[in-house]
Amino acid sequence: MTIHLGKPDYKCSKCGEIFFPYKIDIECPNCGITIPSSEAKNYFDSIKEIAKSMKIHKCLYGRFVPWSWSYANTGDHIQDLLFQLFDLLEAKKPKNEEKFITETLENDFDWGDKEYLKKHIGNIAVDLLPIYNGMIKNISAKEKLKINDSYGIPF
Ligand SMILES: [Zn+2]
Repeated sequence: MTIHLGKPDYKCSKCGEIFFPYKIDIECPNCGITIPSSEAKNYFDSIKEIAKSMKIHKCLYGRFVPWSWSYANTGDHIQDLLFQLFDLLEAKKPKNEEKFITETLENDFDWGDKEYLKKHIGNIAVDLLPIYNGMIKNISAKEKLKINDSYGIPF
C-alpha cells in the first residue's frame, strides 16, 4: 500500500505554479509572494503526513520510493522526488545532511522548466530532517511489525 498525501494542488494566485504552502507565512518558491494562512492552513500538516508516508513505505518496501507510484497531481510528483532524495540520503549517509540535500537537488535531478521546485523540495527536505532523524531512521522491529499489520499487502 502506498500513502499519498491526497491534497488538492495548491496553485499560486499570482504566478500559477503549484506547491505545498506547508507553513505559516510561506512564500511562493517561484514568485515570492507570501501565501495567506487562510489559504494555506489545509497544508500545514503536510510535513507530518509526508513523514508518515515515508515511514510506512520504509517498513513495507525497505525504502521510501515504493515499487509503484501513481501520479494524480503535482503533490504526488513532489512526494516522489522527496522519496528519491531521502533514499539517496540513506544510501550515502552524508555527514552534513543539509549540504547533501542542496547538492543532490542541484546536481542529480533534472528540473526542466520547474526550477522553482528545486528550492521548494530543498526547503521541505530540510524541514523533514529532524523527523527523519528522530522517528524514521531507526524504526523499531515492534513498530515495523505493527505498520506491516496495519497496512497489509504492500501494493
Ligand atoms: Zn507564485
